[in-house]
Amino acid sequence: VDLIANKDGERRLVQCKHWRTWVVQERVVREMLGSMAHFQVSAGAIYTLKGWTKPAAEFARQHGIGLLDAAELTRRSLERLNASQLDELLKPREHHCPKCESPMILRTGDFTAFWGCSAFPRCRGKMNHAGAR
Ligand SMILES: [Zn+2]
Repeated sequence: VDLIANKDGERRLVQCKHWRTWVVQERVVREMLGSMAHFQVSAGAIYTLKGWTKPAAEFARQHGIGLLDAAELTRRSLERLNASQLDELLKPREHHCPKCESPMILRTGDFTAFWGCSAFPRCRGKMNHAGAR
């Protein structure tokens, strides 16, 4: 969860993590529902640039979670956030190499994107795209 927004006294969870690179899967929406329960919040929204799967959309609809694409995000953001807040929100999270602690760089492989160590080829540290080791 990236932030808890207050609007008209209603708390709302917002998830933008990886929004540029993920097609939202049902799993992500389920996790969102879990977070909403945890924070005792009744509304949630997931921002994505790449869209979502059908099961994800169905699950989201059933549980009142908003799935918002880039156009919608831009429209809403302009209403609520200033440019630097939006930048902050959408900035990729920094990762550090599990082997040498150098900053990681997002690389696009043949089949998938992954985080590679900036010290490559000296260091071959890698993480999967979600930032897991
Ligand atoms: Zn490294």
